[in-house]
Amino acid sequence: MSKIAMKTPLVEMDGDEMTRILWKMIKDELLLPFIDLRTEYYDLGLEYRDETDDQVTIDAGNATLKYGVAVKCATITPNPARVEEYGLKKMYLSPNGTLRAMLDGTVFRAPILVKGIEPCVKNWKKPITIARHAYGDVYKNAEIRVPGPGVGKLVFTAEDGTVTEQTIFRFEGPGIMQGIYNLDESIESYARSCFNYALSVKQDLWFATKDTISKTYDGNFKKIFETIYEEEFREAFAKEGISFFYTLIDDAVARIMKSEGGIVWACKNYDGDVFSDMLSSAFGSLAMMTSVCVSPKGVYEYEAAHGTVQRHYYRHLKGERTSTNSVATIFAWTGALRKRGELDELPELVRFADVLEKAVTDTIESGVMTGDLAMITTLPDPVTKDSLGFIQAVRERLESSL
Ligand code: NAP
Ligand code: MG
Repeated sequence: MSKIAMKTPLVEMDGDEMTRILWKMIKDELLLPFIDLRTEYYDLGLEYRDETDDQVTIDAGNATLKYGVAVKCATITPNPARVEEYGLKKMYLSPNGTLRAMLDGTVFRAPILVKGIEPCVKNWKKPITIARHAYGDVYKNAEIRVPGPGVGKLVFTAEDGTVTEQTIFRFEGPGIMQGIYNLDESIESYARSCFNYALSVKQDLWFATKDTISKTYDGNFKKIFETIYEEEFREAFAKEGISFFYTLIDDAVARIMKSEGGIVWACKNYDGDVFSDMLSSAFGSLAMMTSVCVSPKGVYEYEAAHGTVQRHYYRHLKGERTSTNSVATIFAWTGALRKRGELDELPELVRFADVLEKAVTDTIESGVMTGDLAMITTLPDPVTKDSLGFIQAVRERLESSL
């Protein structure tokens, strides 16, 4: 069998610990035997980030902007313990944060559904993808502890000195105050990323705020989404047969619980913080959650939502057998290969991504899985494989379906 050809390289970002081990297994067993894999490789493993003073992360971000599609392995976000463990020159920023800022991107998280790993919500038949606006609001607040009676005001002083002022509250006793903000530019980028993503997965987009209560602040979010939709996306959505739906956040929550899924749900920052954890646990497993960072310019970076699975790595180093779930990392690769195939008009590559994903889900549905899933599956008598054993079981299926 001849290998599938590629035109444009994928930006490949290697990572840390157990996921770095899985990364190589996935390439060796599931990709290199079948694809003439073209990647531009960046080593985002912590040692090399330290060696390059994190320049490698910036270089990988620039390559992503240049080529348009990247696939990333989970990476360590340094904390004081890691600085000591790796003898780092400094406590570098999170690579994901650096990349997201460079791409001006939004992160979309979607669960991988398989029979036997059932969502807590019975009627969720299709994935619900959640997006979080990762800028501003309560995460960039200013807060005051009000000690006693007095007047709290919101004051804006323009560059020309014009002052706009509103009384928030006349306190008669102690209390609290908070000021938050956001930027039109950031909300516009977020909206474009959401519309682009919904188009790329051909699913309806929902967006919700509380504009009945917050008429100016949340009202601005609503207005920006509606304007960008009307001016830039309405036609493309109609062509794909998908829709944009705006509602109040409490109404959205009620509807999500009753829906069958198959929706992209765009959230404001705080709502996304809360509901992304709710969705990922309700769908069953963090190890079955994929993540893609989408820039408003239509640049895509795919990865798994989980971390580097440190505890398994230390067991691996001691020579113990690990059963680490590689599904989300495999889906990061298939997501990136499919997108590359679509952009470069390579139907063979798109088909390969589909076939590999099906080989993964069929393997699990046949009862063969890693330990984390074996613990929660509703299938009878699951067969638990170790990290490599699971990937090899997928390879067998892949070979017979190609
Ligand atoms: P984690 O790597 O997500 O793992 C937490 C626990 O969840 C694991 O110990 C394991 O539970 C379970 N788990 C997660 N993924 C799994 C998988 N694929 N297969 C089987 N079990 C899985 O989170 P962490 O241990 O808190 O973080 C480790 C490192 O990852 C940190 O340095 C953090 O900075 C980094 N991180 C990176 C990213 C990213 O690059 N996107 C995201 C999050 C965290 P058991 O041990 O009980 O089996
Ligand atoms: Mg959170």
